[in-house]
Amino acid sequence: MNSSISGANSGTNQTLMGGGGTEAARRGGVSAAGFIGAAEAPLGTITGFAAAFSSFPLALRQIMPEESVRLARAERFELQSVARSTLPGHRIRCCLLYRRPNTASVEVRRSSVSGLAYYAGLQVCGRGAVCPICGARIAEHNRGEIQAALDVWRGRGGVPALLTFTMPHYRSQGLAENVKALLGAYRALTGHRSYRELAGAAGLTHSIRSLEVTWGRRNGFHPHLHTLGFFGSGYGGAGLRERLPLLWLAELQRHLDITNTDYVLERGVRFQLGFPAGAEYLSKVGQAWGLAEEVAKANRKKGRGDHYSPVQLLCHVRDGTLPEAAVVYREYAEASKGLHFLQWSRGARAALGLAEEKCDEEKADGEDQGDLVLASLTPEEWRAVRAGGWQARSRLVELADYDEDAALGYVAHLVERFRHPSGGV
Ligand SMILES: [Zn+2]
Repeated sequence: MNSSISGANSGTNQTLMGGGGTEAARRGGVSAAGFIGAAEAPLGTITGFAAAFSSFPLALRQIMPEESVRLARAERFELQSVARSTLPGHRIRCCLLYRRPNTASVEVRRSSVSGLAYYAGLQVCGRGAVCPICGARIAEHNRGEIQAALDVWRGRGGVPALLTFTMPHYRSQGLAENVKALLGAYRALTGHRSYRELAGAAGLTHSIRSLEVTWGRRNGFHPHLHTLGFFGSGYGGAGLRERLPLLWLAELQRHLDITNTDYVLERGVRFQLGFPAGAEYLSKVGQAWGLAEEVAKANRKKGRGDHYSPVQLLCHVRDGTLPEAAVVYREYAEASKGLHFLQWSRGARAALGLAEEKCDEEKADGEDQGDLVLASLTPEEWRAVRAGGWQARSRLVELADYDEDAALGYVAHLVERFRHPSGGV
């Protein structure tokens, strides 16, 4: 086989073409035979670190942040394939599977920031609400920007607050209808004269609101909003904090038939002031897709109370442990279309020193032209990797994290394997 896989040993932004697949395998001390059955094998059972790591007890894995990041990435490949089969016809069907029209080859690169290998040159769906991989990348991007904004605000002596807005919900109500009411009430609240006067007195200058959706067996979908407010120095919480529940109730009543007014007055708005609240907001932004620190936790699929996040629903679809999970996920995906899950108030980004916001596809792309190119795969090679399913795509970057030669050998094996699907020669 005259493979054109490229391998790079060192340096930056470097593509070394010409390392043949077979030769690469030999250089890396990895024979194709060592990968027989690899595409179907459980994760982390091939060679080297993966084999060693898979034998570690869970408790030990949890204190190795790098490995938890790798585990999270592997799980996202798997859950993306679960989401793909759950949502036929959705844009996620092409995500990280097919080359972008204007690119010559699929590359495996290593991020100079995280040290992790990733694919470049592939289409991404950018549907952060339903795609575990795009969702995690978009959340990471947003978290970086929000952290930067918080740092700026701290430097100016301001104080952040986390405001959570919820509403009563019933299983009979559809998600799309609920979200429409929630966003409508929120828009009306923030445009209301009384709110604006109180917010102005408190020095509320900017805000970021994010929409979160969970689902529970008892009450169905539970959409709610988290808002990060940037308040002036010296604000202690008086005024706005006391009046908010009443104002929120009034707006909800205009958008929904609210019978349980006590619920709204007691639990409809949660107001937390200070930088720990800002940190909590940041963790909520990454929560939907269980970013690294969440992933290693035990009882992964267990919702908080009766509330399941999208990633938890997908885990249940995968394992067949919650009969409604697939139907619920489809409704969630349908209702999420066109929604802005994170929105900065007008002028906030520029005032806080941030550039114009990228679209979700750009945030999900995750490519950096300055990153080291470990391998450049021909269309035939990429077809073989794709034929190996999510396991092969996950394993290839997993190997490339540590040892590009082993990764190249693995690609050579996949090409051989899927050229002869029967396993014959
Ligand atoms: Zn995607």
